[in-house]
Amino acid sequence: MSATLNLDQLLARSDIKGLKILVRADLNVPLTAEGTVRDATRIERLLPTLEELSNAGARIGVLSHFGRPKGKPENAMSLEPVTHALAKIMARKIAFAPDCIGQQAKTCMDNLNDGQIAVLENTRFHAGEEANTADFCDALAQLADVYVNDAFSTAHRAHASTQGIARLLPAYAGRGMQAELRALTLALEAPARPLMAVVGGAKVSTKLDLLINLVEKVDKLVIGGGMANTFMAALGQEIGRSLCEDTMLDTAREIMTKAKAQNCEILLPEDVVLAPDFGSCENPAMVDAGGVPTEMMILDAGTKAVGKIKAALDECKTLVWNGPLGAFEFTPFDSATNAASQYAAQRTKNGKLISIAGGGDTVAALNHAGVVQDFTYVSTAGGAFLEFLEGKTLPSVEALEKSAQRVADSAAEKVKK
Ligand code: AMP
Repeated sequence: MSATLNLDQLLARSDIKGLKILVRADLNVPLTAEGTVRDATRIERLLPTLEELSNAGARIGVLSHFGRPKGKPENAMSLEPVTHALAKIMARKIAFAPDCIGQQAKTCMDNLNDGQIAVLENTRFHAGEEANTADFCDALAQLADVYVNDAFSTAHRAHASTQGIARLLPAYAGRGMQAELRALTLALEAPARPLMAVVGGAKVSTKLDLLINLVEKVDKLVIGGGMANTFMAALGQEIGRSLCEDTMLDTAREIMTKAKAQNCEILLPEDVVLAPDFGSCENPAMVDAGGVPTEMMILDAGTKAVGKIKAALDECKTLVWNGPLGAFEFTPFDSATNAASQYAAQRTKNGKLISIAGGGDTVAALNHAGVVQDFTYVSTAGGAFLEFLEGKTLPSVEALEKSAQRVADSAAEKVKK
């Protein structure tokens, strides 16, 4: 990742007061049947950007998608209820424009006073958003002087409001985006070593790209959850009725071979916790890996396995975590995830570890373990966080970087003249 411009540079501009700014947010928040917001985490993470820009006197239009309306307006996917929720959380008036382009959007932006905020209607009410058409990008760009992207969770999508518009307006990263990028850099681009990854979750097939990229980057890789079963089976260990992907056995062996060649130590569970079926179970059996009776299934890592993970954490300076180590939704199969993540949280609090987590069920698992506040950074982004860990370029981030480069090039050009 190269550098992006952020709010520090934007707020330092002499013309910030009265400047029209489009802020791409992720207001795709879960609503109740009554239209109230069920989980406002995404809105709360947006507040620093909106408040800093508003306090500086900028005129702000917030862009976001909401749901999947397939390129045409749908009442049920209007951002109007979310606008009310934002107004309530910020304890201030927020304007709403019933379209994100055209005359209604322009009038709304033109009527804003310094420091005022408006939410513009769902970008996905236009087919040009997802198709990233030049016309739709132009129509958005006409509304403002600069663009701020504070929606890291959509950074893996090359849509008009997440990528295309950054080619047309000077583009800056918002505070939330900046925090995510800083965490990702700490995690994989310039990590303090040794660097360790914990990858859990259900299936190898959904995390193949992730495992392949991590094996190249990390010093230790803990494989847990259901996907560890496939690796144990690939080593010829008996796994009973456990979740296993038979089509992935060769792939698992290839990943282990690649890890060896890259000097990446793979840690598979040394012991496992069993149940006859998927679900909660009192006093489940714990056996060494390889000793699983044929009628039982593995639902968690055992105490020896957790001890190994703790010892590995003692040796490492950076941790990247994605996915639970067991079926954490069912007690007591949350034990390994709880114990290992609480140990990582403690080491983080003691200043011994940088711990970055995110993607899929990870936030739910770490919330359940009560460690989210104590990790260095927990990303609420799913796909974007995973795609970064998979080594993929995030189109939104790349667009911000290119915009920063254009600004630097034109400044250098002016100096030459
Ligand atoms: P993912 O979305 O791939 O991170 O997978 C998360 C899911 O993996 C959770 O719902 C867990 O219950 C599930 N999981 C973790 N360990 C196991 C296991 N040993 N057997 C079956 N499912 C598991």
